[in-house]
Amino acid sequence: ETIGENLRNTVAKYPQQEALVCVDQNYRATYTEFYSQTEQIAKSLIGVGLKKGDRVGIWAPNRAEWTLLQYATARVGMILVNLNPAYRENELEFVLNQAEISAVFASLKFKTSEYKVMLNNVKDNTISLKHIVIFEEDWDNFLIQGEEISTSEVHQIEQSVQFDDAVNIQYTSGTTGFPKGVTLTHHNLLNNGFFIGIRLNYTHRDRVCIPVPFYHCFGMVIGNMACTSHGACMVIPSESFEPEKALNAVELEKCTSLYGVPTMFIAELELPNFDHFDLSSLRTGVMAGSPCPIEIMKKVQAKMNMKEVSICYGMTETSPVSTQTIIGTPLEKQVSTVGTVQDHLEIKIIDPQTREILPRGIAGEFCTRGYSVMQKYWNNPEATAQVIDENNWLHTGDLATMDVDGYINITGRIKDIIIRGGENISPKEIEDFLYEHESISDVQIIGVPSIKYGEEVMAWVKVKDGVTITEDELKGFCLSIAHFKRPKYWKFVTEFPMTVSGKIRKIEMREVSIKELG
Ligand code: ATP
Ligand code: MG
Repeated sequence: ETIGENLRNTVAKYPQQEALVCVDQNYRATYTEFYSQTEQIAKSLIGVGLKKGDRVGIWAPNRAEWTLLQYATARVGMILVNLNPAYRENELEFVLNQAEISAVFASLKFKTSEYKVMLNNVKDNTISLKHIVIFEEDWDNFLIQGEEISTSEVHQIEQSVQFDDAVNIQYTSGTTGFPKGVTLTHHNLLNNGFFIGIRLNYTHRDRVCIPVPFYHCFGMVIGNMACTSHGACMVIPSESFEPEKALNAVELEKCTSLYGVPTMFIAELELPNFDHFDLSSLRTGVMAGSPCPIEIMKKVQAKMNMKEVSICYGMTETSPVSTQTIIGTPLEKQVSTVGTVQDHLEIKIIDPQTREILPRGIAGEFCTRGYSVMQKYWNNPEATAQVIDENNWLHTGDLATMDVDGYINITGRIKDIIIRGGENISPKEIEDFLYEHESISDVQIIGVPSIKYGEEVMAWVKVKDGVTITEDELKGFCLSIAHFKRPKYWKFVTEFPMTVSGKIRKIEMREVSIKELG
């Protein structure tokens, strides 16, 4: 099945069910309306001269047109390329050229980024780029371009689309060199979205609040694809994450499920007017993207009316979800593990050096194989060969353990592991410990260079509003963990350096700390 065929089936089953609601934009559409709008957009894509296989960039925060374009491009076999909202001209030009993008749909600007200005500045250096459509200025005019195109022409193209055709390219954030274009097929995204929904018991009665960005697979797959493959409704609270708007959307739209990376749930729980929101419609939700602290999971269950909350683990290269907790998982496992392997996938945990499979309980590199593994990095066979081995196993670079019942724990990233005097230290373990301190709202652990030990442990701490706490008190609190795990350096912050998708950038934390510590 292709994404287009799957959407058509959903429309046939639930024609009058709501498909998409964008609260800030005042937009709502039933599945029938949503489908016909994607058809109109598909006609316009063809009308301006775009062809099956062409790369179409999208550079915008969350809005209805984002989702509509996601499905319109998929229906006519075009490849959507998510452009990171944080790009500057340098990265923009690199990605436009690397993916040979023909058209870009963009917001005029977002926050302090002048998208239109930047696009015009790089236009002359990107030969492939023929069309720039700015939502605020050109959208209506773009829609007119499809008037001459017949419905049968669209259907003809749709029939030529194959399930293993590429449908989406998402660039990695490029921490290890220039960004790499993770190339995903209909098969990759549709299966992943569908099985994610299965684990959450999604039906056409569910309404899913998606405050995470679409540009990232958390929004467009765990969010949109899981919804459309089960006939659920996608509810978009605002352009980018605002804790109040997210909870407001849950209340207003009676959402049954709420998504977020851990920092988003923390921000919601800390809202001064948190108690005023009616969250009684919620039954589940997804936390994913980075380590999910047990304390935060417990609070979400207890205070947000999400009796069942699911953790997903995965990466863009795996569509993204490899493991997930399933509704009905024992509470303790629900908050303390990333669940079990997603249906119909293979996983193994190996010694990164010898590549041998490790016994249960021993941490090693998490590898996976099956429908979720990306097709390739776009135009980059060397990089592809570095992560997908000769037997089709994808090596994630993440460290994991599996317990006797098959539950997985992510214990860290190979590159984040702190090695202090030969002792391997997992930042996550110390973070989980410190989260239990009543004054700490968020904490991140990194390794900083040390002449004596190679590396030393450093903690960045965000203290709860209105509370004061000293370094000495925290040091005292740490006396109950092994001496080599105790942070030597402490830094109090009000926020952490973040990516646009809400992930903490430990690389930047390290750079800042190294400078400050001299
Ligand atoms: P880059 O673009 O540099 O590769 P990234 O790896 O953060 O950045 P993603 O593909 O979005 O980009 O993130 C995948 C990574 O996020 C995983 O490899 C893992 O380290 C981390 N991660 C995702 N979900 C979880 C989770 N539930 N628990 C722990 N870590 C997680
Ligand atoms: Mg990665």
